[in-house]
Amino acid sequence: MKVTATISDVEYGQPGLFRGYASFSNPALSAFTWPICEIRGARPGAKLCISAGVHVNEVAAIEAAVRLQRLFHPEKMQGTVSIIPLINQPALYKYSEYVCPLDRKNINFSFPGSATGTFSECLCDAIMGEWCVDADCYVDMHGGDLRENVSKFTIYQRTDDAALNAPAQMMAMCFDSEIVVGLPASHMQNPGRPPTGFAAHGRLAIMSEAGANGLLDEDSVRFHVDGVLNVARALEIIETPPTAFGRARVLCDDYLWVAAPCDGEFHADVEPGARVERNQRLGTMRNFFGEILAEIKAPQTGLLLWRMTHPSIPKGSPALAIAVEEGFHPNMGR
Ligand SMILES: [Zn+2]
Repeated sequence: MKVTATISDVEYGQPGLFRGYASFSNPALSAFTWPICEIRGARPGAKLCISAGVHVNEVAAIEAAVRLQRLFHPEKMQGTVSIIPLINQPALYKYSEYVCPLDRKNINFSFPGSATGTFSECLCDAIMGEWCVDADCYVDMHGGDLRENVSKFTIYQRTDDAALNAPAQMMAMCFDSEIVVGLPASHMQNPGRPPTGFAAHGRLAIMSEAGANGLLDEDSVRFHVDGVLNVARALEIIETPPTAFGRARVLCDDYLWVAAPCDGEFHADVEPGARVERNQRLGTMRNFFGEILAEIKAPQTGLLLWRMTHPSIPKGSPALAIAVEEGFHPNMGR
């Protein structure tokens, strides 16, 4: 990774506050640079990498990545905090939902990526292998694309290795979330989110999600900012007291996508964060005459992670998602 200073106090890699632009060594990425802020304490310690803007409309997360740059001070910390506030540079000013416009791939489901793949896959590979190569933890912040409302939740990847699971869950618990999702180990068989791609290489990454409809709401910004600061405390980068927790942080161990059963207009009965029972009606699909075409029912008892807010949804496209509480499995009679 090559880094060029712009408004820095110090040279890249030196203690102090660095601000500049990074470029990655993979030629497939050479047309772009990434804004990077790195705050390095005089004393050695852990390295925390923080990003947002994989989805460019998830603006509360992007604003949190900007604000966090001013909340770490080299003289009051040990180790390093490195922040890239907008990962999906090709989508800047294009307002692309979910995907990178160059290859139409969702960067968020392309980890660990590939140095010989498409742009998004090369970018994931560069994030893991260059920018985050020596990071103790990577936090990627998300939530609230143009047509969705998400609960406040965090994601980590569960593996067969308890020594990897414990710190991953601990970092995910640093956020004052409604729901903490530990993805099933089976997710690691395919490209996935950062927690999945990193865990496949025995490394630690988590995600935080908060926001709705491309809005810059203060509550979601604070959720991300406070959670990342708590992660930095857990890594002993800073020593200030942790913020208080007010939400339930319900531990969940599955993430179920629920698709629209037919083309139509989706009208939701429940909002993100709500508890739902198996087979409970979560909403209806209607036609343009207001007639109900189908009901969408909960496939499992759990909590609503997010729902689409734009009513028009084609058949097979996700309308909402449910997190299943840890220890709860079908046929357990609970
Ligand atoms: Zn996102």
